[in-house]
Amino acid sequence: MTYAELANKGILTQPVYEPGKPIDQVARELGLDPAGIVKLASNENPFGPSPLGVAAGEKALREAQLYPDGGYFTLRKKLSEKTGLEMNQFIIGAGSNEIIELIGHAFLAPGIECVMHKSAFIVYKLVTLMFGATPVEVPLDGMRQDLRQLVAAITPRTRLVFLASPANPVGATNTAVEIEVLVQTLPPHVILVMDEAYLEFLDNPPDLRPLIAEGRKVIGLRTFSKIYGLASLRVGYGYAAAELIAVVQRARQPFNVSGVAVAAAVAALDDGEFVAKVRKENKAGLAQLGEGFMTLGLEFVPGRGNFLLVKVGDGVAVFDALQRRGLITRPVKPYGLPAWLRITVGTWAQNDRLLASLADVLQARPG
Ligand SMILES: *Cc1c(COP(=O)(O)O)cnc(C)c1O
Repeated sequence: MTYAELANKGILTQPVYEPGKPIDQVARELGLDPAGIVKLASNENPFGPSPLGVAAGEKALREAQLYPDGGYFTLRKKLSEKTGLEMNQFIIGAGSNEIIELIGHAFLAPGIECVMHKSAFIVYKLVTLMFGATPVEVPLDGMRQDLRQLVAAITPRTRLVFLASPANPVGATNTAVEIEVLVQTLPPHVILVMDEAYLEFLDNPPDLRPLIAEGRKVIGLRTFSKIYGLASLRVGYGYAAAELIAVVQRARQPFNVSGVAVAAAVAALDDGEFVAKVRKENKAGLAQLGEGFMTLGLEFVPGRGNFLLVKVGDGVAVFDALQRRGLITRPVKPYGLPAWLRITVGTWAQNDRLLASLADVLQARPG
């Protein structure tokens, strides 16, 4: 018998996730100097990690011989203080991606359906298929997310609805009212998994706390990978009703996140200065890139996260050409968007270089 025959069915249906290529790999493959390469491919923070987070992480590294506190008391306490929620309303994960998987462990099985938008973050589909459940994808309305379509796709077999706002890679953002109405419309057998990876970049973010207090079935997911700049440490969290968190906690391994990551996360939550700077620079960068795209006559989705989706004609060809010029971006063909590129907002100088190279590339190969 082959290993494929022996394996669980859900594993074999996993689509391949193509992460943004690391700088060193691109340098090796193209014979470029890594120092001259700019990565605008994975929505990482161009201003580095939170300085307070780094200091706390360095200190924690000196106690690396000890297992971390498996209950992650300090981080849940800090989150509780910051939000007014109870400590038992939080679960800590190795990135919010792990929380999505833990939710899958807790709620998914063959015969169950998960509703999401087409071109949604691929991890929703990966986790759904891993547990043998069925992804139900509803179309986008242009490049917008019509939340009524999500509700319309719900059946008695639906257990989870996945939504991100801002959505990645599309960049669509729903209003707080739209999200509130969605949560209030869900039938009692359905849980909304609300991915808030880019929420800190928004001016008027939705607030799930009153909905949770009302007993609505929703879990919010946050990450330290984006605005706090700690992507490599792998730390994120979910928050919800204590009863929901208790169920998901059963799927979590006791030491799923490192002590270094948790110490950095606790400190980063107090790094208001860094967060304010990143928000401000990101806003300026969104405007800079948007104006640049308009000058080039390119259609783009007016995103509010730290990335923009721009229509370049042949996304893979333009990605290749940019990469040869030392700029790593993300073609989104695997998301069914072959004409588009996703570009992370960089520093002013990085955005400037991106726009100049993009102009160059498009001139060389029109449309
Ligand atoms: C970046 C991102 C995340 C965060 O992933 P981590 O595992 O926390 O690094 C989650 N959801 C979306 C849509 C993202 O773009």
